[in-house]
Amino acid sequence: MRRTLVLLIVIGLAAPLAPPAAGQAAAQAPKVIAIRAGRLIDGKSDQPVANALILIEGGKIVSVTPGGTPPAGAEIIDLSRATVLPGLIDTHTHILLQGDISAADYDEQLLKQSTPYRAILAARNARLALLNGFTTMRDVETEGAMFADVDVKTAINRGEVPGSRLIVSTRAMAPTGMYPLRGYSWELEMPHGVQVVDGVEAARKAVREQVMHGADWIKYYSDRSYYFTPDGVVHSWLNFTDEEARAIVEETHRLGKKVAAHAIGSDGIAAALRAGADTIEHGHGLTEALMDEMIQKKVYWVPTVTVGVYVAPGRGGVWPGLMEAEQAAFGLAVKKGVKIAFGTDAGGFDWTKLNQAVEFKYYVDYGMTPMQAIRSATSTAAELLGWQDRIGTIEVGKLADLVAVSGNPLDDITELQRVKFVMKDGVVYRNDLK
Ligand SMILES: [Zn+2]
Repeated sequence: MRRTLVLLIVIGLAAPLAPPAAGQAAAQAPKVIAIRAGRLIDGKSDQPVANALILIEGGKIVSVTPGGTPPAGAEIIDLSRATVLPGLIDTHTHILLQGDISAADYDEQLLKQSTPYRAILAARNARLALLNGFTTMRDVETEGAMFADVDVKTAINRGEVPGSRLIVSTRAMAPTGMYPLRGYSWELEMPHGVQVVDGVEAARKAVREQVMHGADWIKYYSDRSYYFTPDGVVHSWLNFTDEEARAIVEETHRLGKKVAAHAIGSDGIAAALRAGADTIEHGHGLTEALMDEMIQKKVYWVPTVTVGVYVAPGRGGVWPGLMEAEQAAFGLAVKKGVKIAFGTDAGGFDWTKLNQAVEFKYYVDYGMTPMQAIRSATSTAAELLGWQDRIGTIEVGKLADLVAVSGNPLDDITELQRVKFVMKDGVVYRNDLK
């Protein structure tokens, strides 16, 4: 130990005294990476660009041109037989969850797994997502794992473990008795999947506490207990009073953050919109009037189709009907121009069993063009996050987050389930196209 320390000191002292070696200036210049893209979908333009040249320096995109010649000395990455797209963004995930079709699946994780163990799995999940092309994720609550999402995010940002760039929301909120774990003896004090919040003052305090511990977003559960009326409208029971929900949103906005509201039934969506939530999560019960309100208030919809398809058969009950309602709402929302951002609820399904990119196929099946579906996970998702100046498109000045697939996702959207190249912040994490 001591010998190493001495050696380091010697090197530290000797370095400035040594004469500059030939080529040192070149070695110190920032490395330029040149990517030749056979086809470029930049996340913004209506048409792909053929044979584009993307130059990257210091983790950022410094030039995008059709054709062009790489500068001398640049490191060349040949993706000339691939389609290059912006890094994908999933705006609704749970890295600390490993699937919860049944209440038993969920309870087991909260009762039999420690938070450190769950955080190790979360780091694995963030790595899996990155290798599947998801360079950024908004993780919308830890499901009982307290603030562990902040730790995983920090470890990724510091380069300790590879993973998606995370935007985290810590614990989420619901009032007493309105979120699992439920159904245990009253003699037992069970853990909660959320921070339990009752009353306006407690709501404000919970927001402050979560932001203090690192929440980038605030998430709350607007509704529960979904049911249909004979007119086919999805209804639900509200969790918070309007005063409580408004306190959550107001306090969050006062601290410069935004709010995601879990809202499945039309009642829950309406309440979330009254409260001023910034994004509606799930939204199966969206009616045309609610869509108009979302458009007017510039609220984003994050549909999370994949999780519904995954859990509906196992959960039964109202779930298969909810999926039909969501499909109908999706088609209408696309026609009306509701801002739809890609979100899967990964973690609600097992990260190791399903690639979250299957969500793209549902969007196309439900009425989006492939280009619209791609934008939902690139430029539109970046706008939802308020990160449109950094990610979501392949343009000069953006972070160098890029993915590539062999085929053309505009012909076959499932190509995005077979991402073969991943770069985040200018660092290559996967390249099967060499
Ligand atoms: Zn979720």
